[in-house]
Amino acid sequence: MTTHVFRGGVVVDADGAREATVVVEDDRITQVAPVDSDTGHGDDLDPDGAEVHHLDGAYLAPGLVDAHVHLMMDAGPDPAANVDASTASLTYQATRNLRDAVEAGVTTVRDLGAPDGIALDARAAVADGTVAGPRVHACGQNVVMTGGHGHWFGREADGPAEVRKAVREQLKAGADVVKCMATGGVLTEGAQTGAPELTPDELAALVDAASAKNVPTAAHAHGTRGIENAVAAGITSVEHGTYMDENAAQMMADAGTYWVPTASAVHGIVDNADAGTIPEWAVEKGEHALEAFAEAFEHALAAGVTVAMGTDAGTPYNRFADIPQELELLVEYGLTPAEALTAATRNAADLLGVDAGRIAPGLAADLVVLSADPTDDVTAWRHPDRVVARGRFVSNMA
Ligand SMILES: [Zn+2]
Repeated sequence: MTTHVFRGGVVVDADGAREATVVVEDDRITQVAPVDSDTGHGDDLDPDGAEVHHLDGAYLAPGLVDAHVHLMMDAGPDPAANVDASTASLTYQATRNLRDAVEAGVTTVRDLGAPDGIALDARAAVADGTVAGPRVHACGQNVVMTGGHGHWFGREADGPAEVRKAVREQLKAGADVVKCMATGGVLTEGAQTGAPELTPDELAALVDAASAKNVPTAAHAHGTRGIENAVAAGITSVEHGTYMDENAAQMMADAGTYWVPTASAVHGIVDNADAGTIPEWAVEKGEHALEAFAEAFEHALAAGVTVAMGTDAGTPYNRFADIPQELELLVEYGLTPAEALTAATRNAADLLGVDAGRIAPGLAADLVVLSADPTDDVTAWRHPDRVVARGRFVSNMA
């Protein structure tokens, strides 16, 4: 057994900040002992044979959880450029993305769409130590109407019966989550932004089929009607939610539907308009989406929608190494740095159903050492001093 003790630091998670000594045995947190600054009690834990790490007042936070990534995408200007890429080259890209993510302090990712079982296999490759990376949850292929958004890497299905079969195929392959497209994309040329795709009947069949394995469901939804359709069907999380209005936000709050905003995705496009490699029509649609997005945050925060952090990493100029910058965007849109931390740790972990996201005994030893307090300075996440994923220091992972 390998035991690590983290001493002299400030533990900071969704439960707040406190001076504490943290003991890790193998891949688990086993003790979090508050330090009494008068007596020094709690600072004296010294398990046999433990490797002791003196944090000297640094901050110990949970590793980040990104609820929406695409491991096989390269963050190039046009994701469709990969349509003809071989499974092997997409897999190499995934390997690189996994390493970039975990080095940035991301210890869990959820892949919401990849062909050929790439992300499901990545889950096993990380778990057995073949490649370095965050723990992976994966949907397999996303369920999409014939010709719908992202169909090139999705499982096309039409009508409730076919959707049910498509879901069962993903569950059979070992999916941790079922992902579907409830609307079109913002960036599909010629398409109406965020028009409904899967119908209410199809969405209801999808949620029902997923319930057999008790896995969460995730719906890509930009347009208002598509969001409402997804929530009414009982979807666990709305991804993007760009055109969420007051009514849609209230529906989500009432149903307990999570919102995964993926601000990095639309910012990746709009903020890189000058790079000249993204088509002009796409930038224009992105700019329109951005205006609606600011309003979506106002509605969501007013209604009390639960936000879980996700980036859509892999889409244009949206790199795995930059995942922590999503927290800065969440703060720009009105969350406090502490709320951004909660969205990116506890809430995202709860959405995925993983035993992580806080620093407490029994949870996975997914830890990030930061030199500044992330509930005070959201940019503290940019340069983690150290990352521990399931008890292993990231530099020694592979
Ligand atoms: Zn996506």
